[in-house]
Amino acid sequence: MKKLGEHAIVIGAGMSGLLAARVLSDFYTIVTVLERDAFPAADTPRKGVPQGRHTHGLLARGSAVLEEFFPGYNSEVIAQSGGLIGDVANDVVWIGRNVRLANGASDLIGLLASRPVLEGHLRRRLMRLPNVRAIDNCTVRGLATDPVRRRVTGVRTYIEGKPEETVNADLVVDATGRGASSAAWLEELGYPPPANEKVEIGISYMTRTYRRRPTDLDGKQGIVIAGSAPHWRNGVMLAQESDSWIVSAGGYLGDDAPDDDEGFLAYLATLPTMEIHDVVASAEPLSDYRRYRYASNLRRRYEKLARFPENYLVFGDAICSFNPVYGQGMTVAAEEALALQRCLQPGSNDLARRFFRAAAKIVDIPWDIAVGNDLRHPLVEGARPLMLRFINWYIGKLHLAATRDSTLATSFLKVVNLMMPPSSLLSPAVAMRVWQGNRRRVLSVPSPAIEAARRNGASS
Ligand SMILES: Cc1cc2nc3c(=O)[nH]c(=O)nc-3n(C[C@H](O)[C@H](O)[C@H](O)COP(=O)(O)OP(=O)(O)OC[C@H]3O[C@@H](n4cnc5c(N)ncnc54)[C@H](O)[C@@H]3O)c2cc1C
Repeated sequence: MKKLGEHAIVIGAGMSGLLAARVLSDFYTIVTVLERDAFPAADTPRKGVPQGRHTHGLLARGSAVLEEFFPGYNSEVIAQSGGLIGDVANDVVWIGRNVRLANGASDLIGLLASRPVLEGHLRRRLMRLPNVRAIDNCTVRGLATDPVRRRVTGVRTYIEGKPEETVNADLVVDATGRGASSAAWLEELGYPPPANEKVEIGISYMTRTYRRRPTDLDGKQGIVIAGSAPHWRNGVMLAQESDSWIVSAGGYLGDDAPDDDEGFLAYLATLPTMEIHDVVASAEPLSDYRRYRYASNLRRRYEKLARFPENYLVFGDAICSFNPVYGQGMTVAAEEALALQRCLQPGSNDLARRFFRAAAKIVDIPWDIAVGNDLRHPLVEGARPLMLRFINWYIGKLHLAATRDSTLATSFLKVVNLMMPPSSLLSPAVAMRVWQGNRRRVLSVPSPAIEAARRNGASS
């Protein structure tokens, strides 16, 4: 492939930064990844990625793209670290709108492993490329530019105990995550910062890991519960390496899960199914409780900026992060990596404008899914145009019909997995199944009250 320059820098060695570096390695002679944290010797959580202690799973699309960039990646995670692959539509229970989607075999193959394992394998694969190097314990403090500040020429780095240094590059990519400083750095250089779109949801996820027994959850690999009235509490339990479950739960606007056994179990009992509760009630805990506060869905509209310096990009969560209940963030990073590859193929001219446009199209879909779902909560503030209300109504009907129709459930999960566009759910074939499914009575997940009554009845 034609080289576009001598040196590219990626700031941040999270999933996004590693994927961006993989793409850049085809177009630049040397690629340097600069990371503030120390790289851990084992695949353990680290300070710069606090979400790494919480439930992560790689959706089918993300898993396929990683395999494309690093052939054998999925099987390495499984063989070397005990990750699991599974059919997202058949091996995982999906509950939304208080109903359970019918399971059925599909071609949606996802990858389950903890976030440190997913990242560790990616980093090691990247480091095997001869023209990529990574420097840890290295904080980027700002950008270097040409005298008229039209183009970025490098970054200012700081390594403890050493003077600040400028490292030159032909392209700099900011992949420093949700807390990225790009907006501030741009302002320092006299550029307008991007407009922020924010939807406050005030969720905090409480997470703990447990020993997984083969009979748990009827042998399924996971369960995802997107909260609905009356409690609006989300819950996720996914299998991961070392025969363990990782369990996260949290509600909206400060409705936090407690970090004590009794309180956590009582909280789990308010989910629309007792399945997570029942596993947790009898499983051996393998970790402490830990909390992650997720204040808002946050999108920075770089694609709308009229002025932006040359040779600079922003990538991954640094552009957009949204409620992770559907687990889409890493898959978005993978899609952005493909978009970056497509943008670089014809050359680096006008790269920022072309990339931000492509990234915005990618982000639109998971943003609409996650934020659209959050806006069903009556106290979450945000505009609810007629179209959104129609879509939420239609998706509700789709859920009802999909309790018995696994083909329909898979159509929905293909959209969640970023395999198909949301418009596919409005096709005549899908709409017909939704209509037909709603003509029949629907089997809902037992509500906690119903479940409690059933248990009391059974024990008396
Ligand atoms: C609770 C929770 C659960 C989630 N679950 C899922 C899931 O199941 N599936 C999924 O696909 N996604 C999930 N996500 C989203 C996912 O974690 C992110 O979207 C994804 O990891 C991409 O992150 P990133 O690489 O852009 O940023 P990050 O992972 O935040 O990485 C940023 C990196 O930049 C480094 N850095 C920061 N500042 C500097 C600096 N100045 N100089 C040098 N380095 C710097 C940091 O140390 C870090 O290594 C979840 C998120 C949360 C919060």
